[in-house]
Amino acid sequence: MTTISANLQATKSRIAAAARQAGRNEAEITLLAVSKTVPPPRLREAAAAGQRAFGENYVQEGLAKIGALADLGLEWHFIGPLQSNKARAVAEHFDWVHGIDRLKVAERLSQARGADRTPLQACIQVNISGEASKHGIRPDEAAGLAGAVAALPHLRLRGLMAIPEPSEDSALARRRFAALRELRDALNRQGLGLDTLSMGMSHDLEEAVLEGATLVRVGTAIFGERAQA
Ligand SMILES: *Cc1c(COP(=O)(O)O)cnc(C)c1O
Repeated sequence: MTTISANLQATKSRIAAAARQAGRNEAEITLLAVSKTVPPPRLREAAAAGQRAFGENYVQEGLAKIGALADLGLEWHFIGPLQSNKARAVAEHFDWVHGIDRLKVAERLSQARGADRTPLQACIQVNISGEASKHGIRPDEAAGLAGAVAALPHLRLRGLMAIPEPSEDSALARRRFAALRELRDALNRQGLGLDTLSMGMSHDLEEAVLEGATLVRVGTAIFGERAQA
């Protein structure tokens, strides 16, 4: 067994254990392998071990890997901050976008996706930590943006995504993730039908699964430490 396949197994065991603890079915939780800075042969190794969904943060790097691994039929998620001038490339080559926080970018994505493809699957990024610098909309802006994004023809709004502030405090992480779940539930009471909570990374995926994550984004625990950019 390679290191990557062992790491994937260990990560799935962590997800399964947290799901059991929460009384959830682990099959509801998608493992997204975050592969930024990881070269294509190591993604191939992960794919050989059964991993299908990969997350990339940088458009050029992502496009290069999507091209290099096209024979594998993988699912690609764009999880980085998105500028409107990159929206066309993302809409044409990725299957999912997690970081929508402006209507203008969502409109460009929808337009570039067009009618001849399945809709681009989308999550709105919410800043649940209230830090000044981070991406994502404020929770009180979510209903307005979600309604507008859900109305775009070639996007399908699936849910919400968050990256809480790094913390060793498990209780704090759970409060942040619970806040995202409660916001999703409030939007669903308004009829939005959101099925996705994209939350939890290598260090806090248990807390996220306990609070209802349906997709965890895991890099380091699968591929090892990244070189500092
Ligand atoms: C890098 C990244 C991850 C993965 O982080 P790890 O700590 O390596 O698991 C998840 N989500 C986003 C948005 C990222 O940029």
